[in-house]
Formats: sequence, structure tokens, C-alpha cells
Amino acid sequence: MPSPTTVFKKILVANRGEIALRIMQTCREMGISTVAVYSKVDADSIHVKYADEAVCIGPALSRESYLNIPRLMAAAEVTNADAIHPGYGFLAENADFSDVCASAGIKFIGPSARMINQMGDKNTAKSTMIAANVPVVPGSPGLVTDLKEAIEVANKTGYPVIIKPTAGGGGKGMRVVHEESQLEKALNTARSEAEQAFGNSGVYIEKFLENPRHVEIQILSDQHGNTIHLGERDCTVQRRHQKLIEETPSPVVDEALRKKMGDAAVAAARAINYEGAGTIEFLLDRHKDFYFMEMNTRIQVEHPVTEERYDVDIVKEQILAAAGESLKGRVFTPKGHSIECRINAEDPEHMFRPSPGKLQVFHTPGGHGVRVDSHCYASYVVPSNYDSMIAKLIVTAHTREEAIERMSRALDEFIVVGISTTIPFHKQVMHNPVFRSGDYDTSFLDSFRFEKK
Ligand code: ADP
Repeated sequence: MPSPTTVFKKILVANRGEIALRIMQTCREMGISTVAVYSKVDADSIHVKYADEAVCIGPALSRESYLNIPRLMAAAEVTNADAIHPGYGFLAENADFSDVCASAGIKFIGPSARMINQMGDKNTAKSTMIAANVPVVPGSPGLVTDLKEAIEVANKTGYPVIIKPTAGGGGKGMRVVHEESQLEKALNTARSEAEQAFGNSGVYIEKFLENPRHVEIQILSDQHGNTIHLGERDCTVQRRHQKLIEETPSPVVDEALRKKMGDAAVAAARAINYEGAGTIEFLLDRHKDFYFMEMNTRIQVEHPVTEERYDVDIVKEQILAAAGESLKGRVFTPKGHSIECRINAEDPEHMFRPSPGKLQVFHTPGGHGVRVDSHCYASYVVPSNYDSMIAKLIVTAHTREEAIERMSRALDEFIVVGISTTIPFHKQVMHNPVFRSGDYDTSFLDSFRFEKK
């Protein structure tokens, strides 16, 4: 087999922001040339300046740029890219895109259309998992369209239930229903919201587990049938079902549970002959029972905590897997504790409303055990068109306590002037006794009061 670095000469990164830069950093270390694509509003982005070549693919509207498959393919063809890395979001879990790449002879660094179809659609994914004997959250056997069926499912699982869009992502469009009288309205709104947000009105119903933790397992699979897991990430600190802080190891997962969840995740990946990096998301209850929620067939925002604890470059592993390298004999040994805070251009003093605009000062923290993944710099204008995340702050230390202290001091050193960010919010969480105790669930932030200065 040729060495992977010669397999791909040039990778086009079909994304923007910190993840585009993150992928290009690995490419540079591997001696692979990079192509950036960008929308007009992103012309001054670092990912554009950092790449060896850059192609403007359209206006700010994602549909006409980052989500536009013909324009991306044209950019790949003119630049002679032999592979495409989709990052996360945008087209990362789009089976058509993976398929179009395959037909054009350009390697999609991610799973095939078949694998995405088996896992991308959350409802189909659950059926696949049931067949693989992986425990799933109890709920409707398929998509639910009418009220009668919704009532039957809810009666069977018991209230509360959660209505979830099958094409969903980012915690959007989910609805919790506490009693039958709320079901009809919730079903109708959930369906129309799903249609609007994802172009697919399909919804399914699950038992709403009370007080769970969100614990996910990172897996890596090669093209030769080998799958391994790289432990868990605890993403329990969420606001409106959206992750804000992630860490590994989880404060509540011991070696025995890690093995059990890891084995289930590996079984899940094997069930679909998966290839590349993926994440199996579980809800974990107080009795340490866990239930499959979904599989993300892409790199996750929170991948750096695993990279730090396992001393692994997950983007490199994705590229190696896509190039046909085997995982056989590879050993990854965990060490220490790693935490990530998502720094968003949002105002915690005003219900986290978006706060785009010009960064007058952007001073990032540093020092031992501190990593910042960001595409921002002083004078950069955070556009209002895309996701509000402007940086990820990741710290690693020997223990959770030390990691929290390190995160606290790193947050104090992180200076952003010009827009509001979630930095002050994270500072308060780091000092919160419940967070520090490690004993909380996904409702933690419901009772957390942000203190305005
Ligand atoms: P998305 O893909 O939109 O992020 P997920 O299915 O990953 O949606 O769910 C996001 C979060 O919503 C979970 O981490 C969890 O906190 C909450 N959630 C989803 N399903 C359930 C459920 N059945 N019971 C309790 N909480 C849930």
C-alpha cells in the first residue's frame, strides 16, 4: 500500500471557521496541500489565508455556498483536489455529498453514503442499533405522523416524552411533552419546525429520560474491519439541549462502565461496517444504565478533549483511515483530565442572544496544558450568518480539580473586546459547587443563575 501522505496530495476543506483551520493544520503536518472554500463574507477568515489555495464559492447564504454541492465540486475540480474533508455541520453528514464525491473519484474523508444513510437519519439509526443489541431509548418504532399513534406510544413509554426531528442536529426542534393534552399541539409544531429547519418534517417520539447525563464514545474504524474506542466525553452541561462544556473522563464513568459503553459503541460501528471517526451518543441514567441516542458520522466539535487525553490527532486518523491505513496494533493510552469550554459570540446577560461584530481585542490564553482552537483575531468581524462559536478553550491537567483551576485561570486570561461572549458565564460555572462536585445532570443549567456584573 502506498504511504497515505502520498495517497492524498491535496485536500479541499468544505467548511469554515475553527474546524477548517484545524483540519488544515493537520494537513500541513502531513505534507498535504490544502484548498479553502469561502463565502464572500468570509474572505478575511484565517482559513482562507492559511490554505495553499482558496476558492470563493458564493454569497454568505449557506445554501448558495457551504451547502452548495455543485459549487464545492467545481472548486475541487479546478484545484485538482483528490480528497474533501467536510468538517462538522454543513454537508458533513450529507449522503448525497459523499456519493457525489465518490462518483467524481474524489475521496470523501468520512463514511460512504450507505453508512450515513444507516446512521444519519436518527430513527433508522435506532432500528439498526436494536438489531445490533445496543440498548436504545424506548420510543416509537418509526416516524410518527398522526395523533392516535403518538398517544399510543406515549402511553406505552409513559410521560414525559420528547418529540425529536429525525433529521435534527444541534439540539434544535425538540419538544418535551408532559401530558396527553399537550401532545397534539406539540406534534404539529414539532413537524412544521422540523420541515422549516431541516427540510424534513419526520419526527419520532422517545421517552424523556429524567435527569440523565450525556455521555458519548469516540470510535475509530479502518477499512479492514478494525474498530477501537477512545473512551467517553461527558457533555452533560447543556443549555436548551446544546452542549457548552465537555470533558473526559466523565466524573461518573468508572473503568467497568467505560468498558461496557465502549463495547456497545464498537458493536454499533461494526453493525454498519463503519469507516473513519465517529461518535456514539448515549444517555446515562442514575442507575448507570445507558441508552443509544444517535451516531454522529463525522468529527465532533468537542473532539479536542479526547485528543488531549489520548494524545491522538483525530483529523489525522480520519485521513489515514480514508487512505486505507490499518488500525491494527495501534494502542492509545489515556492520561489526565481534559475540559473544553465553547466560547460563543453570545451575551449571557441577555439570554445568550447572538452578539456578532468586530473584535477589537482578541487575546488568547496560553501556558502549560492550554489549547485554543479558533479562527479569530483582533479586527476580525464575526459575521451574523453562521454558528456563533468563536473559539474552543481546552485545558488538560492531571486531575479534574486541577483542570478546573487551569480552566478558570485561562478564562481570566482570555480577553475579548468588541462583542459579548460566553467567557463570563464559563468563569461562573467553573466556580459553581455543583459543577465542581461532578454530580449533576442535563438539567443543571436550568437552575443555574448567571450573575450579571
Ligand atoms: P441533536 O442531534 O439535535 O444534538 P440529540 O439527540 O443529540 O440532538 O439530543 C441533544 C440533547 O437533548 C441530549 O444531549 C439530551 O440532553 C437531550 N435529549 C435528547 N433525547 C432525550 C431523551 N429521550 N431524554 C432526555 N433528554 C434527551
